[in-house]
Order: sequence, then C-alpha cells, then structure tokens
Amino acid sequence: MNTTESILGKGSFSKGEIISLLSLQNRDEQIPLFRAGKLARNKYVGAKVHLRGIIEFSNYCTQDCIYCGIRKSNLSLERYRMSFEEILSTAKLIYNSEIKTVVLQSGEDPYYDCDFISKLIVKIKEEFNLAITLSLGEREYYEYEKWKSAGADRYLLKHETANPEIYSQIHNSGSLTERLEHLSYLDSLGFQIGSGNIIGLPGQTIEDIADDLILCSKYQLDMASFSPFIPSSDTPFSDVPKASLDLTLKTLAVARLILKYAHIPATTALATLDELGREKGINVGANVVMPSFTPVGVKTKYSIYDNKRCITEDASSCMPCLRARIESCDVEIDNGYGHSLYLNQ
Ligand code: SAM
Repeated sequence: MNTTESILGKGSFSKGEIISLLSLQNRDEQIPLFRAGKLARNKYVGAKVHLRGIIEFSNYCTQDCIYCGIRKSNLSLERYRMSFEEILSTAKLIYNSEIKTVVLQSGEDPYYDCDFISKLIVKIKEEFNLAITLSLGEREYYEYEKWKSAGADRYLLKHETANPEIYSQIHNSGSLTERLEHLSYLDSLGFQIGSGNIIGLPGQTIEDIADDLILCSKYQLDMASFSPFIPSSDTPFSDVPKASLDLTLKTLAVARLILKYAHIPATTALATLDELGREKGINVGANVVMPSFTPVGVKTKYSIYDNKRCITEDASSCMPCLRARIESCDVEIDNGYGHSLYLNQ
C-alpha cells in the first residue's frame, strides 16, 4: 500500500496528512483521492445534488476586499439595488423551478436595514415556504437575532483564509478573529452556518489551505465552500493568476473526507475556472450547485470576478442545461430542502 492509500484508509487526518493529500502532483495519485471524495459524498450525503437558487440583490458594498470586483473602491462598476417586489418575484421564479432554497446575497449594503430583511424573510416564508440562506456579510448581532426569529434558516459567512496575516492584508476592516466570532454567534442562534475559503490568494501556502480545512472541521459547518480565486480587472489583484484547478479539486475532495456531512458546493467560480468545473467538483465530492436567478438586467453587474459563467441568460433558460450537466455525474437532483445533515446525526 502506498502512502496516499494508507492516508485515505484512515478515518481522520493529521495536518501533515492533509498537506500530503493537497500536495499530490502525480495524476495517478490524485485519482484515488478524487475517487475517495466521491465515495465519501455518496456514503455521507448520498449520490445527490441540491440546488440553491441565489439572488444577488445588491452590488453596493461598504467593504474594500482587495480581491473582490464589487469592492467600494471600484468606481467603474455600475451599482444596482433590487426592490422588495423584485426580490420577491425572483424568489417566485426559484419556487416555480422546484428549488426549495433561496440564497439572498449582496455586498455589505446598509440600505437594506434590519426591518427590510426581516419583512422579506417573513414574506418569502409566507408565500413560498422556501428555506432561506442569508449571505449579507458581517452585520450587527441584533440583526442576526431578528432575522433568525423572522424565519431565516442559514447564514453563509466565509472566513476566506485561516491565515490571520493574509486576512488582514486583503481586508480593509475587521480581523479573522472577529469574523469567526460572528460565525460562532450565528451558530449559537441556531442558524445552519456556512463558511469556507478562497484558494489561490497571493502568499497563501498549502499549509494555509490545510488550516482552512481544519478550521471548517472545528466549527462543524453545515455548509462549506472552497472556491478558486479568479481575478477581477478592476481590483489591485487584477494581475494575480487564477487558482489552480487541480488544487481546487484536491481541496474539495479532502474537504469531503474531513467534513463528511457538510453541504459542499461546486461553485460558479469553479465553473468559470474550467468549462466542466461544476461536473469535476461534483465528481470529487461536492453536493450542491447554486444557480443564479439574479435578473439578467443586473446579473453582469454582480461582477465579483471576471468572465463569470452563465450571466447572459436568465435562470429559466439555464436550468435544463444545468440539470443535464448535473445528472451526467452519476447523481440525482434532490428536490428536498437540503437542510443540515448534522440535524439528523
Ligand atoms: N458580502 C457578503 C460577504 O462578505 O460574505 C457576500 C458577498 S461576497 C461578494 C461573496 C463571496 O465572494 C466572498 O465570500 C468571496 O469568497 C467571494 N469572492 C469575492 N471575490 C472573489 C474572487 N475574485 N474570486 C473568488 N471568489 C471571490
């Protein structure tokens, strides 16, 4: 038995073992890792993929994250905000597509105050009874409390990198510690929580990615996202090369082996990195895909990175192609809510 096989045979990994798996360069050695990721997905969460419809309702942002195309210093970006009614009618399209989760995402935009988001949650629950994931960045603690009481189910807040120095270099405010405090607070309120990293940040090492995975395991995340960095031309990182596909897939496979029951997406960034990125992600262990239902008129303006996939067609025309692509991966589409699998453990 070679080293890779003996590591893969274990139930849990040391940091050194995670680094060994992430460092596999040889395709013949990567294949057993990828196969193990897929088998673990089938074993722990089933040979199924959940769809989550995302509405990116505002690209205004008070933050200035160096890597992100909607950062406040990007003055060349045309900004948009969707109204309450527009968000609601987009949620209806998600409901009509037989998808049972809506992800409400935006830049950090205080225009949408606590009351607005609370009313939106109540209305979406009343009208469509969708599971609601919020991805609004760091907000006040009382706002999280109100939104949980209003009926929100989940909150996504990526830690982006577990390396505190890199975290501080790429963010204009806050610290990794503060971000994680928000995540813990959300967890304590009963939200299903999601976090994750960006792969391919300048200065980031394989050891840092191992730390990302260990951090995700420590927080026992319900959802964990590992997306490749893709440059945005209007940011200080415009010349930073995009992330490696191989490293992204290795991270996803190791994540599945470590996090077992977590919902792990094959991200749009992965589909942007590689024409078959979504399929490749599913084939190494991912079990979630998040089609964007953001209206075509504004979708191109939610440009967190360049050449984002599927932004010129509306979601209803994309869905047949997306469903066929998913089903080509030996998985079925699960039409349930896709709540945390830890709730059943
Ligand atoms: N404002 C919210 C927040 O900070 O959590 C949500 C919006 S933010 C644009 C959503 C995610 O986009 C971030 O968590 C980050 O991981 C990702 N992102 C931003 N720029 C990216 C880039 N250039 N490449 C890959 N992912 C990027």
